[in-house]
Amino acid sequence: MIIQLKNNVTTARATELATALQAIQVTQEGATLLVTPSAIKTINPAYEADVDKIFVMETDIQLAHPSFMSGKRSVQWGKNTIGGTSNNSVVIGGPCSVESREQIMQSAQLMQTLGISTLRGGCYKPRTSPYTFQGLGLEGLKLLAEAGQKYNLSVITEVKDSSHIEEVIEHTNIIQVGAKAMYDHSILKRCGTANKPVLLKRGFGTTLQEFVQAAEFILSGGNDQVILCERGIRTFETKTRFTLDLCGAAYLKHHTNLPVILDPSHAIGYAYGVPDLSRACIAMGIEGVLIEVHPNPKVAKSDASQQLNHQEFTDLFNSLNSVAKAVGRNLI
Ligand code: PEP
Ligand code: MN
Repeated sequence: MIIQLKNNVTTARATELATALQAIQVTQEGATLLVTPSAIKTINPAYEADVDKIFVMETDIQLAHPSFMSGKRSVQWGKNTIGGTSNNSVVIGGPCSVESREQIMQSAQLMQTLGISTLRGGCYKPRTSPYTFQGLGLEGLKLLAEAGQKYNLSVITEVKDSSHIEEVIEHTNIIQVGAKAMYDHSILKRCGTANKPVLLKRGFGTTLQEFVQAAEFILSGGNDQVILCERGIRTFETKTRFTLDLCGAAYLKHHTNLPVILDPSHAIGYAYGVPDLSRACIAMGIEGVLIEVHPNPKVAKSDASQQLNHQEFTDLFNSLNSVAKAVGRNLI
């Protein structure tokens, strides 16, 4: 249940009510909200004088639920907005990993040439094997930030664990929480108090309910700038790396108030399928796509098979513009 308190309720009284109701206190757009477990459906009549509105919720998808707030929440970074009243869909492009100054500058230049707002590049890589490239860490993060500044782009990178979360918050415009890190509560908790947007990826074995509840940890910490990212789930199929769950995307689009973006690159795992899938994603009218692109994919230090080269990415971007136009979206 979400209880919106009247504006004249004192801080002390709000705290008293929160304790009595086992609720988390959240301030949002000037309003004080008490979010109780969803199993609580009624309140003691003695509290009614303090209450402005009550939203009785079916499950612990609460702050992200459209019955609490309809439409998509607006998420902003730099000069960019998705959700809210905008029809923007962001294309987040860039390499899997930041590998060198030259490489990330080439990627940044490509984004600028195409008029793309946001550059990605992993610096702390949550690899499946300890024997593969683990990312350049802080050195990579500084290169990414430098590329963003030089080419006037916003930047996003993934936080792998809480040991480097402060530097990621400091040097990026959007914090990415990856498929493997989305269960890390110290990361989710810190993201809840960060004043930057968070792109939360769905784990490959995560139900939609669990996924949105992970977002609830960030929202209930006070950060309402959350973007959900579906990036493929594990199914019986082995011909593709994962299976892009477009049904899940449709669910998230309809049943949450959070902007949704899709990541066809990690889903299929092979560059040949990324253009078709990206067009399908944009045609769904969601808030964006994340696409991996590398100046020379053959020598990429991670995810070599799925990264587009610059020409392929340019051709794809041009075709995405027509698809976006056809469904009333504007690419940023
Ligand atoms: C990534 O975006 O670089 C990444 C590692 O993705 P995921 O967390 O979806 O595997
Ligand atoms: Mn990758």
